[in-house]
Amino acid sequence: MTDRNTNIKYIKGVGPAKAALLARLGIFTLGDLLEHYPRRYEDRSRLKPIRALADGEAQTFQATVGAVQDSRPRRGLTLTKLTVRDATGAAQLVWFNQPYVKKWFQPGMELIITGRVERRFGQVQVSHPEIEVIDGADLLHTGRIVPIYPASENVGQRWLRTLVRYALDNCREPGAEFLSPAVAGQYGLMAREAALENIHFPVEAAALEGARRRLVFEELYLLQCGLLYLKSLSKQASTGVKHGPDGPLVKKVEAALPFTLTGDQRQALAEVKADMEDARPMQRLVQGDVGSGKTVLAAIALAKAVESGYQGAMMAPTEILAEQHCHTLAQLLAPQGIRIAALTGSLTKRTREEVLDRLQAGLVDVVVGTHALIQEDVVFRHLGLVVTDEQHRFGVRQRARLQAKGATPDVLVMTATPIPRTMALTVYGDLDVSVIRELPPGRKPVKTYAVGGEMRERVYNFIVKEVAAGRQGYVVCPLVEESDKLEVQAATKLYEQLAGTYFRNIPCSLVHGRLKAADKEKAMRAFYCGEVKVLVATTVIEVGVNVPNATVMAVEGADRFGLAQLHQLRGRIGRGAHQSYCILLSDNQGAETRERLAIMAKVQDGFVLAEKDLELRGPGQFFGTRQHGIPDLKIADIVKDTGVLLEARQAAQQTVAVPERFAAVRPALSARFGDHFGMIFQG
Ligand code: ADP
Ligand code: MG
Repeated sequence: MTDRNTNIKYIKGVGPAKAALLARLGIFTLGDLLEHYPRRYEDRSRLKPIRALADGEAQTFQATVGAVQDSRPRRGLTLTKLTVRDATGAAQLVWFNQPYVKKWFQPGMELIITGRVERRFGQVQVSHPEIEVIDGADLLHTGRIVPIYPASENVGQRWLRTLVRYALDNCREPGAEFLSPAVAGQYGLMAREAALENIHFPVEAAALEGARRRLVFEELYLLQCGLLYLKSLSKQASTGVKHGPDGPLVKKVEAALPFTLTGDQRQALAEVKADMEDARPMQRLVQGDVGSGKTVLAAIALAKAVESGYQGAMMAPTEILAEQHCHTLAQLLAPQGIRIAALTGSLTKRTREEVLDRLQAGLVDVVVGTHALIQEDVVFRHLGLVVTDEQHRFGVRQRARLQAKGATPDVLVMTATPIPRTMALTVYGDLDVSVIRELPPGRKPVKTYAVGGEMRERVYNFIVKEVAAGRQGYVVCPLVEESDKLEVQAATKLYEQLAGTYFRNIPCSLVHGRLKAADKEKAMRAFYCGEVKVLVATTVIEVGVNVPNATVMAVEGADRFGLAQLHQLRGRIGRGAHQSYCILLSDNQGAETRERLAIMAKVQDGFVLAEKDLELRGPGQFFGTRQHGIPDLKIADIVKDTGVLLEARQAAQQTVAVPERFAAVRPALSARFGDHFGMIFQG
């Protein structure tokens, strides 16, 4: 019995050595072969005859091998020429300095040739073509639309095609179709078996399109079923916290704000309050650009929890940020009698124990902290609301862990990494989403300039001038994605250069990801207090401190960053009363780079930048090295397949609403996304 879990090494002709080569492409089982989707296709059903090949264009044609000859037109140059023919004419295939290719060919062999065609003096020539040798009657590799796979040096197209064909013919899976006839009918989807056949060996273009639609739908549908099921679990929980309507405490906190809330803030707050008053646990994400005023909303929500007799908790990704939140909350809430405590890693053992005792006794109303908050020994008396900052640093599992501490408290997640709606559905599909797009009035946009390396001297002198005027600044080091270590080396070198020249007389400091947490905190703190005037840093400052006095940022190697990331970095400045400046330095002044960086200069809206970034670089790059909750998709493209995503979500809603329907897709869901969701769907 062969099924999708059968190891490929049992396929005839594979064996351990070849299996290892396939493993490098992520192929271990027959199922992996079936899901090794082509990266493109070549239409070899209507190959052009040699006579009709277009000059100067990449073409594919079929021909028979004639004579092979080597020549040495001059020293150090070998020219290998292979003459091939079809019924309409001849073509020369040419290789420079690759004499060994001669051995590949024998007169009479049939080839499929792909390459750029040049017509010269009535001759057709193709240099360094891609070649595939075929058997005359071989219907897998020619005479049809042929799949071209992600391959490697040792794993060629022909072999992959043969293996996939084998998997398609031998993978017997009665019941592999998990979409109900109703769903397939409503959304006009091809059957699973037909879709797998046609995604690899399409009988015609329309069948390929139908196959892709089915498989994209299926992938997004399963993911949405998982996300919506998670959401339904927490919504069903009968143990949720039902907060009371606003009373005098919330009203006092709101009345004491030194400003009026923006329309978007009011809207998001109303959504949060409605969720909190509901008995079902809240699972809400508030997306808003840096400085859009999310912390204020958190404060009001926490006051509401306290007013209803519960405790609130707020988690931040770093110690300093936790302290800052604590400070902000103290200003907004303490005057109304709300008791606030910090619980961070830097507390002495004794203070920590004291805070824990008071927390357990219900003598602390709101606690602010880092990951320390989700450690085993933290016990709440009656936790009603958890606010987590910067969700992408925590992830689904950690959220669940904290939730387990109370009787499913309400959860409010804040993120300053705006992502487009469709992507939010894929990443945060288990959350309800509120969006704050509008910034508080009177914000001065950060003046942003994209400049070439020849401006470097002026840029650094400008920073020196700002410091002389009492301001502070950041220098962001170029991104080195390949390795942490190299990045630190580059950052250190830049720091030493700057500290020895432009910043000779200025206190400056270096922070990077390889510093010990305590040292990092120390450097950040010195900058925060104003002792350090210029902070040279890698992207670790992305989620960082609020230093309103910092008015200038220079980003070295700006072309290496994504727009969304640059925007995130830029969010470190423009937080105070003084005009701020962001200077994007780049030695690469290609048209594409210039155009991309020019967008930064024009656009201040993080949502717009995120969308542009996705469009330009695709989701993989968009999330980059960042730990984001994005699942690994095999065929769907969350940027391009938006339409299908919305259909798939709708279908998933109908499925999850009915337990028997959901039970029917559950095995497929755990097979496909078990790892992503963790325990809930494993096995
Ligand atoms: P975020 O957490 O979204 O980055 P914050 O909540 O820290 O933003 O708000 C940034 C700054 O804007 C804070 O100083 C805050 O007091 C101020 N702020 C928030 N909402 C308003 C508003 N509606 N009008 C004026 N200022 C506001
Ligand atoms: Mg609730």
